[in-house]
Amino acid sequence: MTAPFRNFIAGEWVAAAEAAPNVNPSNVADVVGDFARGSAADVDAAVAAAKAAFPAWSRTVPYARHEILKTVAAEIFARKEELGRLLSREEGKTLAEGIGEVTRAGQIFEFFAAETVRLAGETLPSVRPGVGAEVTREPLGVIGMITPWNFPIAIPAWKIAPALAYGNCVVFKPAELVPGSAHALVDIIVRAGVPAGVMNLVMGKGSVVGQRLLDHPDVHAITFTGSVPTGRRVAAAAIGGETMKKIQLEMGGKNPLVVLDDADLAIAVETAVNGAYFSTGQRCTASSRLIVTEGIHDRFVAAVTERLKGLVVDDALKAGTHIGPVVDEGQLDQDMRYIEIGRSEGARLAFGGELLDRDAEGFYLQPALFTEATNSMRIAREEIFGPVAAVIRVKDYDEALAVANDTPFGLSSGICTTSLKHATHFKRNADAGMVMVNLPTAGVDFHVPFGGRKGSSYGPREQGSYAREFFTQVKTAYTLA
Ligand code: NAD
Repeated sequence: MTAPFRNFIAGEWVAAAEAAPNVNPSNVADVVGDFARGSAADVDAAVAAAKAAFPAWSRTVPYARHEILKTVAAEIFARKEELGRLLSREEGKTLAEGIGEVTRAGQIFEFFAAETVRLAGETLPSVRPGVGAEVTREPLGVIGMITPWNFPIAIPAWKIAPALAYGNCVVFKPAELVPGSAHALVDIIVRAGVPAGVMNLVMGKGSVVGQRLLDHPDVHAITFTGSVPTGRRVAAAAIGGETMKKIQLEMGGKNPLVVLDDADLAIAVETAVNGAYFSTGQRCTASSRLIVTEGIHDRFVAAVTERLKGLVVDDALKAGTHIGPVVDEGQLDQDMRYIEIGRSEGARLAFGGELLDRDAEGFYLQPALFTEATNSMRIAREEIFGPVAAVIRVKDYDEALAVANDTPFGLSSGICTTSLKHATHFKRNADAGMVMVNLPTAGVDFHVPFGGRKGSSYGPREQGSYAREFFTQVKTAYTLA
């Protein structure tokens, strides 16, 4: 057994009473390492350190924070192959996807390094004679971060980078399944020169570490990404508790991709296959509902099926793998359960859905394509979070738009069409936070807002300069000259 990877609290790497193995989903005999599982007392120590560090850190010259974030970005870029390999080994996305995600984390730190010196306020005339009014932005204080397993470095990066850029202190709880990338990222951040207490890492269970962050009176804000049920619990505890924390929740999706008769078939097939199945379909923005008009339906299904036959499902680190394994046994069971539900509801399993044997024991699933699905079936309404998509046949654009919007979620919504009229109408009328035209519902830039509507999101957007809405608070000052 490798020595446990420790938590980082108050400027020190600290052992925890418990540890858990981090298992490679491509090969369950391969253990990435043993990682600390923190306690409520560890959270208390981290929050106390963050609270103590906040007054000095929040008053640092922004350029000092710029230098630290720039150093973090530079190290991430320099080590992207190694960090990408670690990420793919613990999460199961392909090495190319892992390196891509690490690169994105570097870009996010680079972006927020520059944001430190762009935090402008406003000066306005008062309605009263001789009085001036100023609006400025200040950091919040101690921010608790709770993240999911499917983007082990990018999501922590897009929470930590703006938090630090604007002068907040952080207590970060990564998902249990992917502590390796979190540990490596925090190691880079602390070596870049953040003072003790500013950046804390407490790995461990949601019900212990996460819950204590929600309940702690000295945590001022919680930024959460994860499933809807956990998000609801986070909201109830964080708002209903003693401190009424500021919260930001990014949750699930059931994202539609509309394919119209006038679509370019090759683009539609690539867009659907990429959006539904890449990263093993384990993206909140995955296209799990393919809403296809009658005239192109059969050609689209045939072409997607052909494309799926050519995809290699294998070890995430192997050259030539297109789709890695499912992240763990629990998620695989969920995927298989939904495949059974789809069948029993009357949808036709047109391709895949079987477990696959590979050289090593892992959680390998042939991507599954359902046809003859309706939008009222559970496979079309509930997030599966695996390589499973359902084709819903519709008459025309109007029905496609209505079906696309008929969902409790509202994260990302896509359309494949060559009609400017339909593309323009869809952009205006899709009830989602992000809309894609002839592009996969998954796959976004790092410098523009990310987030959804309805059951998918709550609170201000993440990423880009819009991130300041959550990570700062506004102050209005009046002066009699
Ligand atoms: P999850 O809800 O199971 O866990 C998310 C995090 O919450 C984990 O760190 C977990 O330990 C923690 N947690 C669990 N119980 C808790 C509690 N009682 N108190 C505090 N924290 C607790 O989600 P997951 O399985 O890790 O991730 C998959 C989900 O994340 C999917 O629903 C996916 O759509 C969503 N997701 C959303 C986005 C987005 O930006 N909208 C991005 C990625 C993933």
